[in-house]
Amino acid sequence: MSDLPILAAETDTHCPYCALQCGTRLQGDREIGVKVQPLAGFPVNAGRLCQKGWTAPELLHTPDRLTSPLLRQGDQLVPVGWEQALGVVARRLRTLRAQHGPDVVGVFGGGGLTNEKAYLLGKFARVALGTSQIDYNGRWCMSSAAAAGNAAFGIDRGLPFPVTDLQEAQVVLLAGANPAETMPPLMQHLERADLIVLDPRRTPTAQRAALHLQPVPGTDLALALGLLHAVLEDGPADKSYIQQRTHGFPEVAASVGEWWPERTEQVTGVPAHDIRRAARLLAQAERAYVLTGRGVEQQSKGTDTAQAFINLALALGLPGRPGSGYGCLTGQGNGQGGREHGQKADQLAGYRSITDPEARAHVAAVWGIRPQELPGAGRSAFEMLDALGTPEGPRALLVFGSNPIVSAPHSARIEERLAALDLLVVADFVLSETAQAADVVLPVTQWAEEDGTLTNLEGRVLRRRALLPPPPGVRSDLEVIRDLAIRLGQPPHRFPDSPEAVFDELRAASAGGRADYAGVTYERLEAGEALHWPCPAEDHPGTPRLFTDRFAHADGRARFVPVTYREAAEDLSNQYPLYATTGRVLAQYQTGAQTRRIRELNDAAPQAFVQVHPDTAARHGLTDDTPARVTSARGSLTAPVRTDPAMRLDTVFVPFHYTGDGRANALTNPAIDPRSGMPEFKVAAVRLEPAEEEPAA
Ligand code: SF4
Repeated sequence: MSDLPILAAETDTHCPYCALQCGTRLQGDREIGVKVQPLAGFPVNAGRLCQKGWTAPELLHTPDRLTSPLLRQGDQLVPVGWEQALGVVARRLRTLRAQHGPDVVGVFGGGGLTNEKAYLLGKFARVALGTSQIDYNGRWCMSSAAAAGNAAFGIDRGLPFPVTDLQEAQVVLLAGANPAETMPPLMQHLERADLIVLDPRRTPTAQRAALHLQPVPGTDLALALGLLHAVLEDGPADKSYIQQRTHGFPEVAASVGEWWPERTEQVTGVPAHDIRRAARLLAQAERAYVLTGRGVEQQSKGTDTAQAFINLALALGLPGRPGSGYGCLTGQGNGQGGREHGQKADQLAGYRSITDPEARAHVAAVWGIRPQELPGAGRSAFEMLDALGTPEGPRALLVFGSNPIVSAPHSARIEERLAALDLLVVADFVLSETAQAADVVLPVTQWAEEDGTLTNLEGRVLRRRALLPPPPGVRSDLEVIRDLAIRLGQPPHRFPDSPEAVFDELRAASAGGRADYAGVTYERLEAGEALHWPCPAEDHPGTPRLFTDRFAHADGRARFVPVTYREAAEDLSNQYPLYATTGRVLAQYQTGAQTRRIRELNDAAPQAFVQVHPDTAARHGLTDDTPARVTSARGSLTAPVRTDPAMRLDTVFVPFHYTGDGRANALTNPAIDPRSGMPEFKVAAVRLEPAEEEPAA
């Protein structure tokens, strides 16, 4: 029986996983167990949860919960006290910095961290460590859509409208998004719309579509250009919108001139008549949305692809039109807020650019330092990890809320770089694969044990509330950051560890920035106000709908941005004749560090699989359930075959939640998008073959 005190018998909070951030009511304690119900009246999930949300309380009593810091001694991680663990970390950081300068330390954050943690981590890196080397796993999630959104609209908010607006849509184009599996409660808002789904796989979302466009992996950009060409064949849908609200249409119209649907078919494999049908469905709808997801964004040309879909939406006159719009479906729990407050290599709080002198002056003043003390922009996520332990790169890395050994592309390379470090410190609540490789592991709180805020995919700021106190021995990430900062010589007042105090400082740092939280307070959130940023003052109602009368560029107009098609970073060859693409399954989340520990989810989706067309399987001597090896130029994965006659003949799909032999990122290509730093997760050239069976014992 636990000897933990009861903090509260009931609290309203949000699911620990994806960016939909379904509202939940938690009841119970550690003795009787915790029960979850969907929060009645929260419009985003409107009474529904997916299997992951229903089973989330099991995380609170996972048997391998970390409750003591761990210190590496030879091959072992040995429990030690907090004083010793933090003392070791601070001492080694001080020595490394004295020998090599501040950029010798890197910081790697996560898109699941609360706004408060993300903000304080960014401040800790720039002020306590003085390093430019900070980035986070959200770089691999949202960065392409963010870069494209900033270029077109002057601002990046995943959905610039509430999800409930989708209920009135007549047509929705879902480009590379599979919400039926990744965020099922969202589908209730799409029930009335005709869906056009663009995906190389016939996903559960595609199965519900009025029209499924199934392109060759890596050719989504060509398809977007072809769709715009087809729209323009009948003349722009809304000439006055283009004239009054945008710049750059003639250049973009000219740039898609050669993307006849027939040519697009040759590149993408999508029939020209389906491209024209999709264009007509969109152009003839009074209320339509274009939504993108990771399928089109996680490519080495992901930003240009997202840009091409935005161009399409602008040509249709959708962004800012009542009942219509463009958005991207953010993935991680705080994928939105996590990218606004300073975890990104090039960014300060409030979505400010770290290279903008005014932004530097504003944030430095809030932090009580001189602007020239702030470092400049660092490396993007993969570039930083790739440089670890090299003469030019960081020699120590602090990881908060991330598991890059499983989530990074070309994972064997990243494993090797982490092993080359002088010091790897991981803060987590379970011994993730990355924590297993650490020199020091710091046990921290999880969702139902902590207070804070997250910002969901529609820019709505939400309160995470604690139901339970953390187990003895566990500290919050904010406490850990503060403790380390003090040990590195910072004055205690500069690093508060109360979530509300940190949030109040974040508000001041974000004031006047693109993501302005100045008017969002805990008090207002507790009073039940629905506050979407920007919310610049305490008497401001927040902004659920952006772009209704102006875009965020200084002249109020959106920008068409011409983009040019280019092929995937690696092409098929005799040696690697198939495409591999990666994605998620319903019962697992991200690297599975949480969901693989939940019995019901693990029973539902216990291991990796290789999804392939039955003819492709047969051509390679494989049938259902036989073990297959998939090999790229970077590594191999072994998993049982799962045939699906709806798969393209040239494509295999592998889910990315698994580790060991089933690690999908052993295959993936780290070729980087030059605009966003996004790696090419969705396209790798591979070969498929039977894996040798283990000899019988
Ligand atoms: Fe949680 Fe997302 Fe499922 Fe909602 S859809 S219950 S937020 S994982």
